[in-house]
Amino acid sequence: MLGAMQDWDLRVTHLIDHAARENGMREIVTRWADGSETRTDWAGIRRDALKMVQALRRLGVDKGDRVATLAMNHSRHLVSWYGAVGVGGILHTINPRLFEEQLEYIANHAEDRVLLYDAAFAPLVEKMKPRWTTIEHYICYDNGEFEAWIGAEDGHTEWAQGDERDPCMLCYTSGTTGNPKGVLYEHRSTMLHALVSLQPAIFNADPRAVMLPVVPMFHAASWGLPWGGAAAGIKFVYSAVNDPAVLCELMNREKVTHSAGVPTVWLSMFQHMDQTGETLPHLKTAIIGGSAAPRFMIERLAKSGVDVAHAWGMTETSPIGTTGAKTPDWDELDFDRQISIKQLQGRPPFGVELRCVDLDDPTKVVPRDGETAGALQVRGPWVIKRYFKAEEDATTPDGWFDTGDVGIIHPDGTLQLTDRTKDVIKSGGEWISSVELENAAVGHPDVAEAAAIGMPHPKWDERPVLFVVRKEGSALSSGDLRDYLADKVAKWWLPDAVEFVDDIPHTATGKISKKDLRERFSDYVLET
Ligand code: ADP
Repeated sequence: MLGAMQDWDLRVTHLIDHAARENGMREIVTRWADGSETRTDWAGIRRDALKMVQALRRLGVDKGDRVATLAMNHSRHLVSWYGAVGVGGILHTINPRLFEEQLEYIANHAEDRVLLYDAAFAPLVEKMKPRWTTIEHYICYDNGEFEAWIGAEDGHTEWAQGDERDPCMLCYTSGTTGNPKGVLYEHRSTMLHALVSLQPAIFNADPRAVMLPVVPMFHAASWGLPWGGAAAGIKFVYSAVNDPAVLCELMNREKVTHSAGVPTVWLSMFQHMDQTGETLPHLKTAIIGGSAAPRFMIERLAKSGVDVAHAWGMTETSPIGTTGAKTPDWDELDFDRQISIKQLQGRPPFGVELRCVDLDDPTKVVPRDGETAGALQVRGPWVIKRYFKAEEDATTPDGWFDTGDVGIIHPDGTLQLTDRTKDVIKSGGEWISSVELENAAVGHPDVAEAAAIGMPHPKWDERPVLFVVRKEGSALSSGDLRDYLADKVAKWWLPDAVEFVDDIPHTATGKISKKDLRERFSDYVLET
């Protein structure tokens, strides 16, 4: 027997229909790379997306076809999200910061048919064209090209219909090892993720919210914001450039209440604010994730009245895994304790299940005791089952996805991420968290950036070496830093050497690339 309620597929086009109907006049502002600004609203985004559906059909784009974008954050990009899925296609957001080999690989692997791109990336597109074998149509967002293309249509059409398990979006991981891998989201998984993302503990969003998402639309589905934002009917303020002066100006002028981005964004914002004395009086909620948010960052924002949601997730989890959900006793805790909890990676919302398994014996689930570290596994309706075009499932036989992260789960369910499986440093049979060492080191006022890696050691197997970029003008010595760390980490965690470097390599998503760092120092010999 089936239940007796209405059929209403969980397809993401419902999101834009709702936004246009209920919050149609809520604005979408774009500050373009050339400094100009445009304003549209949810009703306008829907109108343009329907025109794009017609324009795509005219190009012969059909159900399941991949429509790619290579673009920063702006309203035309948002139109394309809904246009691509509205025609029944699969939106493929490409990260322009990937290396050329990766760009070549993913567009060909995805078999993209159409590419929409920013004029700023035109030189890259020209260079890649001969290597991209499946793209038939190139449309530039700028110089009137995109507007003319959709402007030729009247928008009188319907969204493609289909099953809620149809795919709607494809995102590739940056591929820190091997080729990037595609994660193929469904309408249903995306919709469930969007609904959950509006909770107070996550984006805390309703139509009063004014959000400036610094997280790019090409990174990890932009944390689902173009979908969740439509469900909530929030106002978006987009900036096609990530200059802190521009972001600050926009945040103040447009009275931005919500922001979402990786920690490095805040580092440059703080620097700018310290230089100019600017403040962000309207900002109420900052979602920080993608890599660990350092304590001083959370503390500084919290002191200025901003509620920080420190979130963990990955492309494979759509990407929300955990967020800075408050504990039941939150209001009784003092400020310092609250910051200590915020520094951890938060708790899973309904729809995400977590467990940690023994690092050496993955059949053994480790206790949630706030002490035992294990390989973090996750499952739920918006967690990957199989990579795009892969033959085999990416999950364990009992249906869990192994994240490649190492974590500790506390008795109250709070996740503490201690490392990535490949980065933990094994010293004398015990594990040292490279991330915790780095976090402690960046707490020093003279340290701009730090990365710890394990170096081979004849007696201990591996010992930590800390690579540090000093702040400009600093004369910090290795001894100074070791003294500073002495009461912050266990004695046997103290790095055997501190090496000062001019820069630390990063991945295309701005994270420290330990792989490249290891390669750079492959001849390194520890003095013993
Ligand atoms: P990419 O690998 O392409 O950079 P992802 O966004 O998928 O993109 O990366 C996910 C990884 O980022 C996680 O597996 C985890 O290692 C790291 N990460 C994400 N959020 C946090 C966080 N709050 N603290 C620490 N690490 C994080």
